[in-house]
Amino acid sequence: MAVFYLGNLPAVIWLAQRNSRQLYKLKLDGDGVQENINVQSASNQQERANTQFLQRRIERYENLKRIIELLNQELSLDAVAEQLCAISFFLLADNQGECLLYLLDGSTQKLVLFKTLKDERAIVIKAKEGDSFDHWVLRHASPLLVEDISKDFRFDADKVRRADPRPIASLIEVPLISGGKVIGLIRLEHQHKRFFAQDDLRFFMTIAELGAVSLENAQLYKDARTMAIHDGLTGLFNKGYFLEMLKTECRRTYRHPRSLCLLMLDIDNFKKLNDTFGHAAGDIVLVTISKAVSEALAQIPAVVCRFGGEEFCVLLPDTDKNTGLKIAENLRKAVAARELLLRRQRNQCTISVGVAEFPHDAQEEIELLMKADRALYEAKSKGRNLVIGA
Ligand code: GH3
Ligand code: MG
Ligand code: MG
Repeated sequence: MAVFYLGNLPAVIWLAQRNSRQLYKLKLDGDGVQENINVQSASNQQERANTQFLQRRIERYENLKRIIELLNQELSLDAVAEQLCAISFFLLADNQGECLLYLLDGSTQKLVLFKTLKDERAIVIKAKEGDSFDHWVLRHASPLLVEDISKDFRFDADKVRRADPRPIASLIEVPLISGGKVIGLIRLEHQHKRFFAQDDLRFFMTIAELGAVSLENAQLYKDARTMAIHDGLTGLFNKGYFLEMLKTECRRTYRHPRSLCLLMLDIDNFKKLNDTFGHAAGDIVLVTISKAVSEALAQIPAVVCRFGGEEFCVLLPDTDKNTGLKIAENLRKAVAARELLLRRQRNQCTISVGVAEFPHDAQEEIELLMKADRALYEAKSKGRNLVIGA
């Protein structure tokens, strides 16, 4: 038996060595498979992340059509700003943190906090004219991503916190640019670090581009509307708007048994003043008297208009005739006391006023205007610088 084993020893050794080599080869193959599995799984993970990222991007860009629709359906500056904040807050910040929208005041070149949107936390925003981040974006007219406020070397975190102790850790901010000009800024901030990424900033820029155009349109609409209802020289309401208001107020007064007063004012001997000092000086007088009337009525809810030429009308809602007559008398005195400097000469100007009450003197607005006009005519014929009631 022993002779048999000894005789076959080389064969046994060869067999053992062959098995060991095969085992080693199998192990190597196994390692290779595991490595392949690891590589494949990492690549799958990356693929999944890429797909998610692309899906998010597609979703965001699909939202653009809706964003344009939402922004374009608003005409008022306030509504456009509100919509812009709501869209950004929802799409980029999951309705967390804050969204701030600043508009740039064209005359002072200062930022004015115009709209804010916050999550449930009751936070007070102190920097009504913007902080270091806002001023950076304004100065560079560039977008800004701050992933971690405490570690961003561009900003002094302590200074920011001292100025406004809100718990902000990260933010994105972009300028609102229309026609090559910065018209404002929009900013999203969050209490967690690295809440926003470069891709968020890029999408924010796209939203801001669309938003800026809508804001500019709303501003132009507002300016056009302001021009359409105001007199160019004095800044008072014009006749068209006043007649609209008079109609509305008369209806309201009729529904709730109350009264309103209409005052018709006319500058005395204005033609003479024009002829003596020139038309330009006459214009200055019109502006000065408009100011005197507006200032005298500053504490009273009144609608003041330039009715035409050197005539003005004042609508006093919820006012009876006695009160209307007293207010008219105050206006007369205020104008008479106002000094006019024309060609370095001190001058004075007076007005005559007719007062009529709705519905006591007239039951509809045209009749009311006629009654006030007739009272004014009486004041003129009785010597001017007078107040007469219908
Ligand atoms: P009365 O006391 O009776 O009201 O006399 P008056 O001279 O004020 O009235 P009249 O109606 O005779 O003259 C009004 C003048 O107002 C005539 C017109 O040239 C002048 N006027 C009207 N609109 C303007 C304006 O926009 N600027 C200037 N400078 N003058 C104007
Ligand atoms: Mg007149
Ligand atoms: Mg006159």
